[in-house]
Amino acid sequence: MKKHNFYAGPSILPQVAIDETINALKDFAGTGISLASISHRTPQFDDVMNEAVSLFKELLNIPEGYSVIFLGGGASSQFAMIPFNFMRKKAVYVNTGTWATKALKEAKMFGDVVEVKSKDFFSLPKNIEVDKDVDYIHITTNNTIYGTEYKEDLDYGVPVIADMSSDIFSRPIDISKYTLIYGGAQKNLAPSGVTFVIVKDDALGKVDHKIPTMFNYATHTSKNSMFNTPPVIPVFTALQTLKWIKANGGVEGMLKRNNEKADKIYAEIERNPIFKGTVAVEDRSIMNVCFIMEDKYKDLEVEFQKFSAEKGMIGIKGHRSVGGFRASIYNALDIESVDALVKTMQDFEKEHIK
Ligand SMILES: *Cc1c(COP(=O)(O)O)cnc(C)c1O
Repeated sequence: MKKHNFYAGPSILPQVAIDETINALKDFAGTGISLASISHRTPQFDDVMNEAVSLFKELLNIPEGYSVIFLGGGASSQFAMIPFNFMRKKAVYVNTGTWATKALKEAKMFGDVVEVKSKDFFSLPKNIEVDKDVDYIHITTNNTIYGTEYKEDLDYGVPVIADMSSDIFSRPIDISKYTLIYGGAQKNLAPSGVTFVIVKDDALGKVDHKIPTMFNYATHTSKNSMFNTPPVIPVFTALQTLKWIKANGGVEGMLKRNNEKADKIYAEIERNPIFKGTVAVEDRSIMNVCFIMEDKYKDLEVEFQKFSAEKGMIGIKGHRSVGGFRASIYNALDIESVDALVKTMQDFEKEHIK
């Protein structure tokens, strides 16, 4: 039976990216050596890094004056690296969920943090007023756990830093609105182990304190992510995913595909009397679709888990902090998988409502 991969991360990747990685693990670029055991200083790997950076820039239409780097440490390391590199006194943190909360906690070690929040994490704060004297505002564009998403690139009048771990490459982005964009690659791009950072070069080097070499973005931008050993295998896979995105209509193609998938699944959640959505309609994510049982059918939750697993639905259990269900429908997920989930929900309805 076909498995439909709705994991939130690590998560589904294009099959071609997996296949090409398997091939390279056997024989990388005709060298007769595995990608797992070749020096990152070879011209062949240099080509991989350069091509990954240039495709990243091409697909996201990144203007001159920005660098793209690949680091280890996950998005979570960036929570500290960002204030280390950008905080002089004060920053605004828009707290929209679990990851944003973690980012905010790290920032407090470096300066004053102004927290902006909605009443709960099921809707997003809007029309945020920002004092002009802050060093930056930090936002999380897609909240992987709660399933809310800012789908537009907003102006705040101060430098904007964004965690785009779980929606990078899902839509076109106006990069010029941001000073820095970062994310763990394991949601939409690559296996875990690599973190991407897009940074405006002239925003670096503005803090007075010293920054240890490895935690200074300038170290990595000046060495093309090769100051130390980069995560070789995930960078290779990222390149294969980028090629797949390009072959499938670029980020515009991804947005169209993602909107189609999201529309289908949200429509079913609204129609089906057994299920209901959890977040404000205007803030719904097109990457992570969260839903729960209607009160009347609460007792059926465990049964739906079992029922959907039997039909090949993998990874739709909600995050442990929220409960219910979450279908992550990242770029690489085919619409057939969404159709299969919708059919599963309909079959479940037929079994329980006569
Ligand atoms: C998954 C995720 C993270 C954490 O990423 P790690 O690479 O595991 O540190 C941070 N922010 C968001 C929005 C995420 O989805």
